[in-house]
Amino acid sequence: MVQMNTEWNSARDWRVSCQSNWGVPKTIDLWDLVRNQRTLKGAFPLVTLSRLVQGLLDQVVIRDLVSVSEDEQGVVWFEVTGESRVGGRSSIEVEVQAKVLVTCQRCLEPMVQTLLESVRFDVVTQAQFDALDNEDIDPDESDVVVGSRQFDLLELLEDQLILAIPYVPKHLKCQPKAPLHDVGAEDEGLGVEQKPNPFDVLARLKGRQ
Ligand SMILES: [Zn+2]
Repeated sequence: MVQMNTEWNSARDWRVSCQSNWGVPKTIDLWDLVRNQRTLKGAFPLVTLSRLVQGLLDQVVIRDLVSVSEDEQGVVWFEVTGESRVGGRSSIEVEVQAKVLVTCQRCLEPMVQTLLESVRFDVVTQAQFDALDNEDIDPDESDVVVGSRQFDLLELLEDQLILAIPYVPKHLKCQPKAPLHDVGAEDEGLGVEQKPNPFDVLARLKGRQ
């Protein structure tokens, strides 16, 4: 996967231009975007992404731009730019970012995780895609999407954010949660009681004499 910009884009101009297109992105004409080298920006509520938020903590719910909080949680911002070179490949550049609430796997407290993805995809026809030999595709180099006049942009953005969630999210600094009680010590105590007392054994042997 080709990673590009990996910094949280808090530039006011960028945010404002995304937010001017507020709402859940529907399908788009990807061929038109590529052919005319257009850029599409937008912003929408994070909770729209049901696959992403499933299994996560309850996320901040944003209903309109007025309710976007200072900490920027609950919103997805994105930018998609089409590109086509004469005689070359068509591609799109996708930038998407959001902040989600996850559970820290060290202290088990909630934490805000920044998700950023900036990826370039080659845009191919279905026929080109079918003809691709999977062994020729280097997963680190080549991301491919099949172009369509009804391309599901929401699904692509959601996939990218899901991929951006760390496998084991952790605060930069925190302490592991202390266990409720020490089970190991109890087991050990039980073990000692069950062992025969060596002095009893000795006394029995002496009694036989
Ligand atoms: Zn933590």
